[in-house]
Amino acid sequence: MKALHDKIAKEGLVVSDQILKVDSFINHQVDPEFIMEIGQAFANHFGGQNITKVVTIEASGIHLAFATALKLGVPFVYAKKKKALTQTGGVYSAPVYSFTRQESYHLTVSKDYLSAEDRILVIDDFLATGVALRGLRDIILQAGATLVGVGIVIEKSFQPGRKELEAEGVQIHSLARIQSMSEDGILYVSDEATL
Ligand code: 5GP
Repeated sequence: MKALHDKIAKEGLVVSDQILKVDSFINHQVDPEFIMEIGQAFANHFGGQNITKVVTIEASGIHLAFATALKLGVPFVYAKKKKALTQTGGVYSAPVYSFTRQESYHLTVSKDYLSAEDRILVIDDFLATGVALRGLRDIILQAGATLVGVGIVIEKSFQPGRKELEAEGVQIHSLARIQSMSEDGILYVSDEATL
């Protein structure tokens, strides 16, 4: 997605050869118009696949899932990182290790909001090791729902997430695919699908 490449070039900060900071438009401050463009790009790609719900993880997935769900005309559900006292009807849950925070947590989704009839599109900001996506996929499986596909804003293709999940049959569509990065710049995967 050209607009995303441009935005990363202008505002992204390569913190190390492993970590990209995009706090000015996705992860801390949010650029709403740009997030709506991202939602539209995912809706263009996954529209027509009878998605009934978009699922993401709090907090950085919420605005991305909101924009995508709005464009697809379906609700979205965000998995919580801590079980809330209001989740009284039972939850689906899966353990996850956070790459950026270097800590473990349990994802939970109330059983009220996912069912076996659901066809799910998962949306997230980054794909790195794929651990977070595995947690969400676990929850979707527990609900008996169908995982139609995964939409990722920025994929770090040099980390194993995509390869491993694709080998397990997960359909992944990333708007930017980084092959490598350093303080000299960012190199994108050459056959990246652009929208
Ligand atoms: P994974 O589970 O695929 O290893 O990591 C996914 C999560 O880690 C993402 O949802 C994102 O929150 C965080 N993450 C991984 N790599 C980066 C990165 O380079 N920059 C930022 N800002 N977050 C990242």
